[in-house]
Amino acid sequence: MSLGPGAAEHLTPRAVEALRQAEVIVGYKTYIGLIEPLLHEKTVLSSGMRKEIDRCREAVQRALEGFRVALVSGGDAGIYGMAGLVFDVCQAEGVAVCDGSGQAKDSGEALAIEVIPGVPAFNAAASLLGAPLMHDFASISLSDHLTPWKVIERRLMAAAEADFVIALYNPRSATRPDLLDQARSVLLRSRSGKTPVGVVHKAMREGQRYWVTTLRNLVSADVDMQTVILVGNSQTYVWNGWMVTPRGYLEKYGS
Ligand code: SAH
Repeated sequence: MSLGPGAAEHLTPRAVEALRQAEVIVGYKTYIGLIEPLLHEKTVLSSGMRKEIDRCREAVQRALEGFRVALVSGGDAGIYGMAGLVFDVCQAEGVAVCDGSGQAKDSGEALAIEVIPGVPAFNAAASLLGAPLMHDFASISLSDHLTPWKVIERRLMAAAEADFVIALYNPRSATRPDLLDQARSVLLRSRSGKTPVGVVHKAMREGQRYWVTTLRNLVSADVDMQTVILVGNSQTYVWNGWMVTPRGYLEKYGS
């Protein structure tokens, strides 16, 4: 299930209800910390990064034992989150699950899965910046742990060439501090250095900071793994500090 970007007011009512109903809560420790007040009298299993598979297996195991389990993910669980991994693990381990409509496949017992949506980081960031996602956009994770850099580079090139607004996730890691600089060089092959770029750190969390710069002036030293970056398209403009991508209404109907 999804926790949204951070603070409790951005949890959906369904997510709050699911947390209340859960007997076991499983998640990454930073996210568990964000929902501390909702965790009374629950079994909480938290672990660090790179323990995703263990966490997921543990959650499935507890659910098979009959507990109501909430496996939590920041933002939306289905976007670079845990939702896909649950299906992968259940499929790989031959766990019987209900189908999408909640019906058991055979007559036997099957695990009921509910994917609860949440506000992803790119939405939270866009709302702070203004309205940068008013037109077609692409989301690209710069993390090369699971995806080869060649693939990431090809997607960056294609999205830049097709003039998508681009959300850049996972822009920096301790082991790969140069990811963003490399991505920026790729984007600059087909996009103007004046393209507006919004940088949002800890959206809707304590310590939130954000600013608007340009592709030319984007400095990777200012970003970390709790940052999401929105690169405008060729029409995106900055007005009074707001970053806006026009949909084209005024050109068509404005006069
Ligand atoms: N499922 C999440 C994404 C998880 S990947 C979602 O739907 O947004 C983790 C990456 O998401 C981070 O490296 C960062 O790029 C971004 N991110 C997640 N929460 C964020 C927040 N509150 N502020 C800024 N970036 C965030």
